[in-house]
Amino acid sequence: MEKVLEVKDLHVSFKTYGGEVKAVRGVSFDLHKGETLAIVGESGCGKSVTSQSIMGLIPEPPGKITGGQILFKQRDLTRLKEAELRKIRGADISMIFQDPMTALNPTIAIGEQIMEGILQHKSISRAEAKKKTIEMLNLVGIPSPQSRLKQYPHQFSGGMRQRIVIAMALVCEPDVLIADEPTTALDVTIQAQILELFKDIQNKTGVSIILITHDLGVVAQVADRIAVMYAGKVVEAGTRREIFYNPQHPYTKGLLNSVPRLDLDGAELVPIPGSPPDLFAPPVGCPFAARCKYAMEVCDRVYPSKTHMSNEHNVDCWLQDERAQNMLAMMGR
Ligand code: SF4
Repeated sequence: MEKVLEVKDLHVSFKTYGGEVKAVRGVSFDLHKGETLAIVGESGCGKSVTSQSIMGLIPEPPGKITGGQILFKQRDLTRLKEAELRKIRGADISMIFQDPMTALNPTIAIGEQIMEGILQHKSISRAEAKKKTIEMLNLVGIPSPQSRLKQYPHQFSGGMRQRIVIAMALVCEPDVLIADEPTTALDVTIQAQILELFKDIQNKTGVSIILITHDLGVVAQVADRIAVMYAGKVVEAGTRREIFYNPQHPYTKGLLNSVPRLDLDGAELVPIPGSPPDLFAPPVGCPFAARCKYAMEVCDRVYPSKTHMSNEHNVDCWLQDERAQNMLAMMGR
C-alpha cells in the first residue's frame, strides 16, 4: 500500500528547569493511503507530542526535535522552515483537537471561518470558496448548511461544533488528517456518530487519518492499525485484529483489560497498577518493568528490541525474545 507519511526514529525533548524531558524516544511508523492509524496510550506517553511534531507545532524552545525524520512527499518535515510548514499545515496535513471551541473563533460566523481556511491556501474566488464550504458542511452532516453559514459557534451543539471543525480541517482536501482525542469532550452517543463520520469521510475522500487517543474503545470502531505508546516509545504495533485478539505486550494487555469491551460482556475491568516512569531520567531497560508482573532481570537492564510476530505485528518485550534468558550472560553483566 502507498505510504503517505513515514516517521523514522523520532526523538523529541523539552528543556525545563528540572532537566530535559525526553518525551518521544525513537518513534517509527508508516501511514498508508486511506487508512486510519490509531496511536494509543496514557497521557504523557508522547502520542500528542508525536502528532505536534508532524504538524511542526513543537514550541522551540523549550521543545526540540533532537533526532529522526518525518517524511512527507519526499520532504523531511523536521528540516523545513516555519514558512514552508505553514503552507503544508491545513492544506496537506490538517489537525483537529479535543475541544472544538479552541479551534473555532467565537466572534466569527462559521461560514467565514471555513472560507478563510480555503482562501489562505487556494487561489480561488470567494464564490467558489463559499460553494466548497457548503459542500463540506453537507459532507460532515450539518443540516441546511446554506442557511447556517452566518451562525456563530455558540449557536451549535458540541457535536455539531466538532463536525464544523472537521469540515474546516478537510476543506483543503488534505492527504493526512490528525485527530487528537477528537471525541473525548463529547457524550457517548455523539462520539459514536463522529467516529462513524470519520469512516464515512475516509471512504469518500481517501484521506489518511492518524487518531490519537487514550481510549481503546474509540480505536475498536475505526482503526485499521494500532500503535501502542508507552513512555515515549511504540511498544507494540499491529492491525486492529492483532492488537485486540493477539496482544503480546503486557502493557497492551493491561490497556485492553482496563476498558469495557462489547465482545467480553461482563468481564471485570482491571486498572493497570502503578504509574509511568519519570521521563527526566527514563529507565535504561524496559520502561514498563516497574508495573509488569512478568518482569525479569534482563528487563531492568536492557531495552528489548523489536520482535516481529508477523509482517504487520511487532512488539518490544523480552517475553517474546528467545535471547532473554542468555542476554545478560552474553553481555557479560
Ligand atoms: Fe514486562 Fe519485561 Fe516485557 Fe517489559 S520487557 S513488558 S518488563 S516482560
